[in-house]
Amino acid sequence: MSAGEPTPTARVPGGQAAILATVAARLAAARRVTVLTGAGVSAASGVPTFRGPGGLWRHHRPESLATPEAFARDPRLVWEWYDWRRQVIAACRPNRAHDVLAAWSRERPGVTVITQNVDGLHEHAGLEAVIRLHGSIWEVGCARRCHAAPRRWRDDTVPLPVLPPACPHCGGLLRPGVVWFGEELPAEAISAAVAATACDVFITAGTSAVVYPAAGLVEEARERGAWIAEVDPNETAASSRVDAALRLPADVAFDELAALLVTGLSACTNG
Ligand SMILES: [Zn+2]
Repeated sequence: MSAGEPTPTARVPGGQAAILATVAARLAAARRVTVLTGAGVSAASGVPTFRGPGGLWRHHRPESLATPEAFARDPRLVWEWYDWRRQVIAACRPNRAHDVLAAWSRERPGVTVITQNVDGLHEHAGLEAVIRLHGSIWEVGCARRCHAAPRRWRDDTVPLPVLPPACPHCGGLLRPGVVWFGEELPAEAISAAVAATACDVFITAGTSAVVYPAAGLVEEARERGAWIAEVDPNETAASSRVDAALRLPADVAFDELAALLVTGLSACTNG
């Protein structure tokens, strides 16, 4: 076993150890690395996906609340849901995946992180330059975009004292600073994400990478010559189309990769 190759353990089954070593070697040689994160990256922090069978809130499906139509119909109900989510997320802490990505961004100039998550845990871990495709649950904006108000601003009060909250500039409704179903993704985030597909290694983590925009970003990265890796404990529909598939939870995978990169770098220095 060469230096830096992981030993199979209970949390890293044998086959995964070899794939980890391959991904680590690609990362060590890469100048530019782009990582796209999704709900799976926040799972170890205890952030619920707010989807699926366990994702009901007061008998409502998330898809029926996270829409402009739901907000127009019942802004108080939608805000009660977001206020509850903000309280749940406020109790969550970044995990090793967030910490490692924040450290890489600090230490390596060519690392870019794009996220579909709205929970703010990347920023909480110290990664301020994250590209947020779906906005942030910690931001609000004027629902009628009054001229006096900035487009979005941060408000991390939990719980919010009054629901629905009012715009301090015009007295109208505030809305959560997230992208709802049926809304356009923020143009500046999309163009930054597309620019970041010009990289040597592109990693999708905790997102199935088969739906827009993840799938498009993976394709764009591939066309630009990137080596593609997937981090997901389960096989996804995109698994057959990636160069390496790490079947590990994101917190375990990034923790192991960070350790391998440190070992590999010190081996180079010493050798
Ligand atoms: Zn306003």
